[in-house]
Amino acid sequence: MTNKEAFLEAKSVIPGGVDSPVRAFGNVGSEPFFVEKADGAYIYDVEGNKYLDFVQSWGPLIFGHCDKDIEDLVIKTAKKGLSFGASSPLETKLAKLILDDYPHLDMIRFVSSGTEATMSAIRLARGFSGKDGIIKFEGCYHGHSDSLLVKAGSGATTFGTSSSSGVPADFAKHTYLAIYNDIKSVKNLLDKNSDIGTIIIEPIAGNMGLVPSCPEFLKELREICDEKNIVLILDEVMSGYRSSSVGSFGQYGIKGDIVTFGKVIGGGMNAAAFAGKEEIMNHISPLGGVYQAGTLSGNPVAMAAGIASLSKIKNSPNLYKKLENLATKFTGGLKKIADENKIPLQVCVRGSMFGYFFTDKEVKNYDDALTSDTAKFAKFHTGMIKEGVFLAPSQFETGFICDAMSQEDIDFALSAAKKVMEKL
Ligand SMILES: *Cc1c(COP(=O)(O)O)cnc(C)c1O
Repeated sequence: MTNKEAFLEAKSVIPGGVDSPVRAFGNVGSEPFFVEKADGAYIYDVEGNKYLDFVQSWGPLIFGHCDKDIEDLVIKTAKKGLSFGASSPLETKLAKLILDDYPHLDMIRFVSSGTEATMSAIRLARGFSGKDGIIKFEGCYHGHSDSLLVKAGSGATTFGTSSSSGVPADFAKHTYLAIYNDIKSVKNLLDKNSDIGTIIIEPIAGNMGLVPSCPEFLKELREICDEKNIVLILDEVMSGYRSSSVGSFGQYGIKGDIVTFGKVIGGGMNAAAFAGKEEIMNHISPLGGVYQAGTLSGNPVAMAAGIASLSKIKNSPNLYKKLENLATKFTGGLKKIADENKIPLQVCVRGSMFGYFFTDKEVKNYDDALTSDTAKFAKFHTGMIKEGVFLAPSQFETGFICDAMSQEDIDFALSAAKKVMEKL
């Protein structure tokens, strides 16, 4: 089977041939490859082509594909049953592994996706604060639930719709938009609207490309929330265990009232979570009146993958240094090649996350990100695929280094980038 045939056949039964829109490669004007298998730093398509994989399932696989320790625990656990619909000690074990890293969070609830985690966190924050209004930041993505799908970066940006059809205006009207890294925009909203009880933010934004917040901005945001009794939700679905071993808490010391997790904590399986202080988490059913549930929540096999992944992180004290070093070498190399070819490029690294924008403007918020030359990006992306390097097929995504990558892999990617950029 060729990639083309696989895509055609998929399109006959699955809308656009994909189960998540950015996978369709539509915004880079090409067609996706279909995957046969993956191993370590590499992914293989149905035609047998091999790609160095900087997507890593969009973040979860910090140790790369088919990590032996994760695979072993998953298989061992799966043999005891795939799902119970009753609690298992694996949930408590993963809960403790995460809460140990965040002393200000007392309790955690597992769900199956990041979307569910932020959606539940918002409901909880509303239930706790008694206020419907929330602030989110332009370009931040928190999954695809109704209240959060407003100017939501990544897929939404790429497809030219800042919000989705099908979202009732009555829902969206409770979502106020602020500008990332702009504390005045937050103050303005709070001055004008008394119904705001929640602020949600990606402290290190990874869904409009990689755009970290400025330390002073986050500090002020925390202060405002304390002053006005607003629940601050830090969405660390991507940055938690990717930007550092304790996400933005490790880098800024900022404490969220509720923190959402996903991606790495599931080790490649379907697990995500939201955590908070006891006084807030007490409001969740069955303790409190905020309803939240899931048939596959805390699934044993997913918990096993998460436990293996986080245990391995805890046993690898130099992991993030190594990953950051490779990320810096890659983006540094890219920048140098771009300079040599007089192509404007902005680069950024946070731990194992890296970003690059085809613009000469420093990127601090969504509007800055949108100055990027997406046509140039598309050509670059297509060229890199041909050279055997898989980068996320959108300008507004983050790249990921995994532990299975080596200096040789980075050198290979840079030699590919040199060939591609020379032709841009
Ligand atoms: C990926 C992501 C989500 C959504 O997670 P899914 O598992 O795709 O539903 C939410 N927030 C952030 C910051 C993310 O990066």
